[in-house]
Amino acid sequence: MKIGALEAGGTKMVCAVYDENAGLIRESSFPTLTPDETMPVLIDFYKTEGIDALGIGCFGPIDLDRDSDHYGFITSTPKIAWRNYDIVGTFKKALGVPIGFDTDVNGSALGEYTFGIGKNVDSLVYITIGTGIGIGVINEGKLLHGGMHPEGGHIMLTKSAKDPFECICPYHKSCFEGLASGPAIEKRWGRKGQELAGNDEVWALEADYIAKAIFNYTAVLSPKMIILGGGVMHQKQLFPLIREAFKKRNNGYIKNRYTEDTDSYIVCQSLDDKQGILGAYVLGRQSLGMA
Ligand code: ADP
Ligand code: ZN
Repeated sequence: MKIGALEAGGTKMVCAVYDENAGLIRESSFPTLTPDETMPVLIDFYKTEGIDALGIGCFGPIDLDRDSDHYGFITSTPKIAWRNYDIVGTFKKALGVPIGFDTDVNGSALGEYTFGIGKNVDSLVYITIGTGIGIGVINEGKLLHGGMHPEGGHIMLTKSAKDPFECICPYHKSCFEGLASGPAIEKRWGRKGQELAGNDEVWALEADYIAKAIFNYTAVLSPKMIILGGGVMHQKQLFPLIREAFKKRNNGYIKNRYTEDTDSYIVCQSLDDKQGILGAYVLGRQSLGMA
């Protein structure tokens, strides 16, 4: 039994094939160009291996409503060439195998829940902070979808009094992604996050925005663990700052055995940035009815 996995991102497509006995047998990554250019390359990759199912964790927004005519489509993405693109249908036609499909961040949440630090933690929130910000949610053992899927990067946050910076989200005046994503950091400070490691002011402000968001997710979703990943979270000095800022923002209000121990409540991704592709593998298994 071979399962294909695809982490479909806005800049690159990470492709893998897992054998049920041998584990990972093939992995490659390809740039995300237009569907006409990129899809044949991906289809070739999986055809060569002869897979039994494919799991896709995809950049969004995507249509996950099984009753919709556009189930399996990428919808209103800023990447014009992929807007209203039937990614699941195209793979299904070319490969003829069952396909599991979800958001890239739900995929990462599932990867950590199955193999990582979130193993057996049945209610958790995975947050990615990179080019964009997104959340994947597992609630009582199941990925949260509802009407679509969470778009937790666009929750409204009050701006810090010390922050004169304009939110860069084209849709919102003061949202988490527009204030705290990698590109927002770069625009606010004039340099990329990776070049700002020694600037304490940068990370104190960033930690405060992340802590506000974590408080909101905690208040609404009642998770048992918050897992943080994505490029910006490579700045490990953020973790103690976020935990302190969360305590301050919470102000003793939400108290349970998970939130009280912030060292185990707010944690770093544990799968070395492989959580997305591993989650896609689990989505592929699930499409065959496997656990
Ligand atoms: P993507 O979100 O495109 O999949 P990443 O998660 O690597 O990729 O996010 C890229 C963003 O994260 C960029 O804005 C980049 O400046 C920022 N970033 C990447 N690495 C670091 C780092 N070590 N420290 C701070 N910011 C980083
Ligand atoms: Zn926004």
